[in-house]
Amino acid sequence: MIHPGSKTLRRVAVVGRGTAGSLAAASVSRMHPDSDLELHHIYDSRIPVIGVGEGSWPSLVQELQQLTNVSHQVVQQRLMGTRKYGVAFEGWGRRGRDFTHYFTPQQVSYGYHLSADLMADLLHECSHARHIDAKVNEINRVKGGAEVRFEGRESERYDLVFDARGFPRELQPEQHIDVSFIPTNTAVIRRCPAIIRKAKDGPVTEHTYTRAVARPHGWIFVIPLTIHTSYGYIFNMNVSNIDEVEADFDKFLETDGVSEFEQRAVIPFPNFVHRQIYDGAVARIGNAAAFMEPLEATAIVAAQLQIGMVLNMRLNRLIEHLERDAPTVNRFLVKRMLSYGLFVGWHYSSGSRYDTDFWRYARERAWPKHRKAAGPEETGCDALHGFDEMIKLLNQPVIDKADWNRMCAVPLTSYSQMSQGLGCA
Ligand SMILES: Cc1cc2nc3c(=O)[nH]c(=O)nc-3n(C[C@H](O)[C@H](O)[C@H](O)COP(=O)(O)OP(=O)(O)OC[C@H]3O[C@@H](n4cnc5c(N)ncnc54)[C@H](O)[C@@H]3O)c2cc1C
Repeated sequence: MIHPGSKTLRRVAVVGRGTAGSLAAASVSRMHPDSDLELHHIYDSRIPVIGVGEGSWPSLVQELQQLTNVSHQVVQQRLMGTRKYGVAFEGWGRRGRDFTHYFTPQQVSYGYHLSADLMADLLHECSHARHIDAKVNEINRVKGGAEVRFEGRESERYDLVFDARGFPRELQPEQHIDVSFIPTNTAVIRRCPAIIRKAKDGPVTEHTYTRAVARPHGWIFVIPLTIHTSYGYIFNMNVSNIDEVEADFDKFLETDGVSEFEQRAVIPFPNFVHRQIYDGAVARIGNAAAFMEPLEATAIVAAQLQIGMVLNMRLNRLIEHLERDAPTVNRFLVKRMLSYGLFVGWHYSSGSRYDTDFWRYARERAWPKHRKAAGPEETGCDALHGFDEMIKLLNQPVIDKADWNRMCAVPLTSYSQMSQGLGCA
């Protein structure tokens, strides 16, 4: 395959060694056709990775096989993974009924529940990069590329830099779209013994689901790996205090029959989209680009898309097109990230079986903000229109066959299952 852009992509840097940075380094190694490419993988070993992305979408199964050249079975075993066929919602929506959001086609398509650390290890094995352990102070676009400024080292210039440094320290309105119609901002993470046993030989083929259990202060995820089971209580620290959340977490584990756990972390997180994900020389990826709380596990799939689009455009298009391509790619990515946010925020719009401060806040105060916060004036993109179109389709008495494959970040089938389950329809 001819890659007309590869000649102008000689020096590439990936900054960050979490899930997003590791995916980017492996993708550059795999997709760039030239052996004399100079790839620097830069990270500060004193700054830990977040390490909690353990649910994925089906596209990751294919991608990991291609990146590693290892069979699906071996990949799944290396990740201590299980096959995730969807998300099982408990106690969400108007009817308070339990239901499942399946990947499409239902019961066929699966993603992984995976250990984020093990996935990073696997990806490092198939990356060909020079590793630089240093703190990066700044990444700036300069004429014809980008400059990385280090602490205690000479600056370096690259043709393309992937910035995978994780969450921004604070949101600034001129740089970030604040997705505050999602009502949560903190996670308490606990690790419990595995409930799915490793198979003797081969991967576990049992169908598993991420459980998303509505609770008085938010919701709890349960992610089964063969090495451990991850539990996370997602809540809003401005609405509930941590002691009441921990107490409810204890109660939940007790009723779930879990007698021992390891307290892992309390993680505050922003819900946001960076307005400038890609400028032609610097591509923000992973949690540096956008984040929409973990309800639908949209972060890894978003990082895959960010990396894939940027690399494909840079490798397959002539450099003469870069000035026009970059804003187009940026617009597409901002719209897609915001559309994920609308899909996730909408999950809260019908409340849950609990009538508590948190659920009233989610339904009555946070979600109604979405029309302004995601509107074209605030965001410069038409994600809200795309979302409205999906809801309009769901409300039609018959959905025309021509519309069955429509999507707004996720397929119409996902909207339809959620709408039924939440009791919107
Ligand atoms: C509670 C919770 C649950 C989640 N669950 C899921 C899930 O189920 N599925 C999913 O897809 N996603 C999930 N996520 C999102 C998850 O965080 C991301 O998928 C993933 O870990 C991406 O992180 P990252 O690589 O962007 O950043 P990080 O893991 O934060 O990595 C940042 C890297 O940058 C380096 N770095 C930072 N600053 C500097 C600097 N100045 N100089 C040099 N290096 C630097 C660090 O050393 C580190 O290597 C969850 C997030 C949270 C908060």
